[in-house]
Amino acid sequence: MEERDSLAALHRQMRACLRCLEEGHLITPGAVFSGVATAEVMVVGQAPGITEVEAGRPFNGSSGRRLFEWLAETGWQEIEFRATQYMTAITKCYPGRGRGGKGDRVPKRSEQKLCAPFLDQELALVRPKIILPVGGLAIRRFLGAVPLVEVVGKALPGEDGQWIVPLPHPSGANLWLNQPANRERVAQALAHLSRLWQCLGISPS
Ligand code: SF4
Repeated sequence: MEERDSLAALHRQMRACLRCLEEGHLITPGAVFSGVATAEVMVVGQAPGITEVEAGRPFNGSSGRRLFEWLAETGWQEIEFRATQYMTAITKCYPGRGRGGKGDRVPKRSEQKLCAPFLDQELALVRPKIILPVGGLAIRRFLGAVPLVEVVGKALPGEDGQWIVPLPHPSGANLWLNQPANRERVAQALAHLSRLWQCLGISPS
């Protein structure tokens, strides 16, 4: 009960946060995240896109479709996963388009730093058993600056006893996934997840 109340208070703070704007970063305020205090799995992405802002939920667009296709291979249906698990990001507000209009802007280190205490608090309150960092920025938060090929396909122990199962960014624009060897790494990551659900009693039902 206490954790649920604390998490609700944190969510109110995140929704009202204007730190990046106050520091001069051109974000669209309105933090995007979803999830409950009883979640056992936490997905951590880079930052929401515009479709996520419009829908008010993480991984709403084409990236979400692919991510949920991956999770479906391990037994989870999207509706059930969204209702019972937790989804958030390194920075929680839309960073806008990148230079030249190609894709979304990668949040600067200074923005990541401003938002980091929120992710720290989410982790402390939810205490997930499994963390899925999705994409390079999120992977760096948990595993340091490591090449994707060295960590995707593995289940690694986290600092606080959780399992970290890194995934590449599921965007259709991610050329990394065009390589058959990399798609095999994703398949290995999903096989680890299926085993972890069983071992840890996390039931996609
Ligand atoms: S990205 Fe994070 S720190 Fe920046 S305004 Fe949004 S919630 Fe606040």
